[in-house]
Amino acid sequence: MREAFEVYDVDAAGRRGELTVPRGRTVETPALLPVVNPHVDTVAPRRLAEEFGVEALITNAYVIHGDDDLREAARERGLHDLLDFDGVVMTDSGSFQLAEYGEIDVTTAEILAFQVAAESDIVTPVDVPTPPDADRETAEADLRTTRERLATAESVAAGDALVTAPVQGGSFVDLREAAGRHAADTDLDVFPVGGTVPLLNDYRYGDVVEAVLAAKRGLDPDCPVHLFGAGHPVVFALATAAGCDLFDSAAYALYARDDRYLTRRGTRHLTDLETFPCECPVCTAHTPARVRDREGSARHDLLAEHNLHVSLGEMRRVRDAVRAGTLLELVEARARSHPAVLDGYRALLDHADELERSDPVRKDGFRYLSTESARRPEVSRHHERLDRVTAPDRLLLTEGPRVEGHGTDWTLLPPFGPVPDALSRTYPLTAETPDRTDPAAREAAARGVARLAAANPDAAITIAHRGWRAETLDRLPDGVATVDLDARGLHGDSRAESATGEHGGDGA
Ligand SMILES: [Zn+2]
Repeated sequence: MREAFEVYDVDAAGRRGELTVPRGRTVETPALLPVVNPHVDTVAPRRLAEEFGVEALITNAYVIHGDDDLREAARERGLHDLLDFDGVVMTDSGSFQLAEYGEIDVTTAEILAFQVAAESDIVTPVDVPTPPDADRETAEADLRTTRERLATAESVAAGDALVTAPVQGGSFVDLREAAGRHAADTDLDVFPVGGTVPLLNDYRYGDVVEAVLAAKRGLDPDCPVHLFGAGHPVVFALATAAGCDLFDSAAYALYARDDRYLTRRGTRHLTDLETFPCECPVCTAHTPARVRDREGSARHDLLAEHNLHVSLGEMRRVRDAVRAGTLLELVEARARSHPAVLDGYRALLDHADELERSDPVRKDGFRYLSTESARRPEVSRHHERLDRVTAPDRLLLTEGPRVEGHGTDWTLLPPFGPVPDALSRTYPLTAETPDRTDPAAREAAARGVARLAAANPDAAITIAHRGWRAETLDRLPDGVATVDLDARGLHGDSRAESATGEHGGDGA
């Protein structure tokens, strides 16, 4: 068991929990760790804690190590004192510089020893981030190097620090999974999914989700997972739903330097704004025109503060959603405002069976919000449950009123399908769904009917549907009879008409 990480709530593969570092400091997860550059004083770490509620930050040990004065100060006073920050301090090792510039001038053992001496709470070995489009040979070679580094990291006296075990593998999901399993088998503590920065920068969120889920298949459920470079708030809900617990943001400062303004829906440019669409203290106290009038660094600092407020606010919203069991609904809301998130959400739903394993059986509610809702893990779980349901000999599944002459009636509820009476008041069949259903919901419901029919081959099943199209009806198994309520004008609670003579399934 990894005792540093405690999970309180789960939703899809997302978790709300708490990470405790050996010196006793804690951080509530999922958490956003602002990147603090020791050379650039954007928002002072003390202000991060006091005004922004930041519990953990990340700084670059390689940059500090490369500066004689900072290095000695960090060794003598420790990073908490040097940075004037009493929360959790995580350090990166120079892997990013290695990826950018091709070489660095410290070894893993040296930089780890330095991080430990500087009293970092979470220390990182130098691993080799594999570029997303590298070939398999390169990915395998990088992975061998990373494994050696993890062995070095295991052998270094970590003192009072947690040690990260980066999970690489490029875009090869089998290598990612194997790397995850290897990392979980070490006695290391925190698991960054590495090499994703170029994907995140290019908004390739579908590929990010595939990489995270592959790493998670290898990792154990008690492994806290860090997504390096995921600093844009638009991706927080999605990445949390895929199973990430820790995020770092340099974006708040980097975007500000280009006069870019982060929102939960994407990025705007300061020159395009007449009104700030935000409630944070910066946007409440200033107009875009007044911020534009400021000199460079003063303007950038204000934008960085806004960017940080909106990022940390979104992370609080994500934590609340995991607790409330509404994380996938938050992901859907974000997917409706950014196509890259929609792509990532669709990739996530391609793995609904994996999500279903961690998704809680009970939540407060289920809201059908888009065609993607039809692919949520709750729907596949209900379909699996139908395999074990005994149907009456003669059963009518109806979207509307009872229709006489077809036996016992159960509700037919898209996207779930048959609602056995005994389950009708239980989650997720208490779902809130729109009256005007869509083809995706009906097709999912048809799959549910097929599961029930397969489990009860001797039952005579009729479905009374509201104008389902032929392509959907074709998904029903042979032998399931159908009644079109719309064609018969049966919308309300009239029950009189009999429904004989309807078509009885394709080859029946
Ligand atoms: Zn703002």
